Amino acid sequence: MRYLLPLFLLGFFSALFGLTPKDALKELVDGNNRYILDKTLYADHSTSRRSQLLLGQKPFAIVLCCSDSRVIPEVIFDQSTGDLYVVRIAGNVLGAVELESIEFCAKTFGANLIFVLGHESCGAIRAVMNDDAKEIEHIATLMDPAIKEAKSWEAAVKDNVYFVVNQIKNDPRLKKFYDQKKLACSGGFYKIGTGKVELLK
Ligand SMILES: [Zn+2]
Repeated sequence: MRYLLPLFLLGFFSALFGLTPKDALKELVDGNNRYILDKTLYADHSTSRRSQLLLGQKPFAIVLCCSDSRVIPEVIFDQSTGDLYVVRIAGNVLGAVELESIEFCAKTFGANLIFVLGHESCGAIRAVMNDDAKEIEHIATLMDPAIKEAKSWEAAVKDNVYFVVNQIKNDPRLKKFYDQKKLACSGGFYKIGTGKVELLK
């Protein structure tokens, strides 16, 4: 219960003024800590929440993550309906369509953070590493340059996150939001076993 008042105040002020990118990242980290500790008190997917959101949405973060059924951003970060704008694609690669989706949210809804989430045991990464990716050839084309130096499965996942974060940070159509300090981009590595998201600097 001790989480509820600060979270209520955070929700109130962020709805009015928006979060800073740093606050948005802290919100994800705090939510992940609640998830790890089995204290996921915050997430609200209720009827009243849905009714409120009929008026509009103001997600504070955009998450680009894998389609893997074990990697669910709203659960991992203990966030409510309407908090996260999620772009999911196998291997969390960044093509023109994914980037357009991210830009759309940043420009239209004013999210304050773009978070690229790679994960442990990513099948798409392994398929590309093993040169066994004929079912995901377009994804492999996007991923190949990111993971070509990686020496292990985990290193490849992390290299892919760094690569995508770098692409997003250098997107000229988002530059003005970065310059105004209204938006930032960072990434993380999710361990399925522990539930922990390791921040990648
Ligand atoms: Zn994956």
